[in-house]
Amino acid sequence: MAWHDHRHRGRPSAIHSKANAARMLAWLARPRPKDGRLMAATATLLPPPGLTTESLPGPWGLRSYRQYLATRFGAQHIRKLCLHAGFSCPNIDGSRGQGGCVFCNNAGFVPKGRELPDLRQQWDRGRSALRRRHRRVDGFIAYFQAFSNTHGPLDRLRRLLAPLPQDLPECVGVSISTRPDCLDEAVLEVIADLAQRCFVTLELGLQSDRDRVLRLVRRGHAAACFDDAVQRAAARDIELCAHVMLGLPGEGEDAPERLGRHLAALPVRSIKIHNLHIMRHTALERPFLRGALADLDRHRYAAMVVRLIRHLRPDQYLQRVIADAPDDILLSAPWCHDKQGFLAELRDLLQAAPEPIEQ
Ligand code: SF4
Repeated sequence: MAWHDHRHRGRPSAIHSKANAARMLAWLARPRPKDGRLMAATATLLPPPGLTTESLPGPWGLRSYRQYLATRFGAQHIRKLCLHAGFSCPNIDGSRGQGGCVFCNNAGFVPKGRELPDLRQQWDRGRSALRRRHRRVDGFIAYFQAFSNTHGPLDRLRRLLAPLPQDLPECVGVSISTRPDCLDEAVLEVIADLAQRCFVTLELGLQSDRDRVLRLVRRGHAAACFDDAVQRAAARDIELCAHVMLGLPGEGEDAPERLGRHLAALPVRSIKIHNLHIMRHTALERPFLRGALADLDRHRYAAMVVRLIRHLRPDQYLQRVIADAPDDILLSAPWCHDKQGFLAELRDLLQAAPEPIEQ
């Protein structure tokens, strides 16, 4: 299958050769433009000389999206900046369902600038905040995360994307999160047009590959809808990120392997794995509080993440392996606040079993 790549199995990856390592170090240490001028330098999106995205394994065999971006942009510190474009979701506003997915509380991921109607104000505020938090930033990816950012009149999407990336200083790319059932051909055309001008990632929620589970969590679409949207977007050369969840009720013990194999068979570049955590003001709140739903144990989740990862292709990268929520709405999985502790556990498990599974 064209999307499978086993070239590195059974031998050291290219980065481990001395020549490549030296070339990479020299390239990273090269004289650099000031942050504000990076956009022009990254316009071509070329990887560093001699290196490809597939030659950069992450720490402990984890292929991190951060490293993928480093090869695409030639810069180590590209940050995603959350913007709220004001879209709703068809699973909330009644066009497909009401009440949303059973785990969804959008307060968990609406950016703080949501009260700002103006995108540029959100952008400037976000840039300042990210620069305060990180010692170095080489460029920003505008990230439309909350709700379904292609749900609404086509003209509205056109107006949102037409001035990008040039109207947002230091914007080196755009990431658009949406549902697979909000992607007709006209929408894909608008996104493909943006992808001609800058780096674009389309982030689609799958959550589970089982229709029975998708019905249970009131997702409002089937797994085939996701697969179809992925194939149509990939046919237009739009880069894709898939969002899946581990720990959903009714999944079955083999969920990590199933999901890993499912994603490996699709033209998906990056994956976000989300632990199920129960939040207030969601449909899962009451069953959880009355004991009908078990809390997701950290060790069990870490083992599931490793089992999923081991089925991915070598050219697929991980954008996220753990997600948290604000303290005041988080009811379960309190360990999700300790990302470093979780990553340490994941590192130990991956070191014990670093190799991908034969596809
Ligand atoms: S599709 Fe996304 S925004 Fe809509 S209800 Fe589900 S999780 Fe929430």
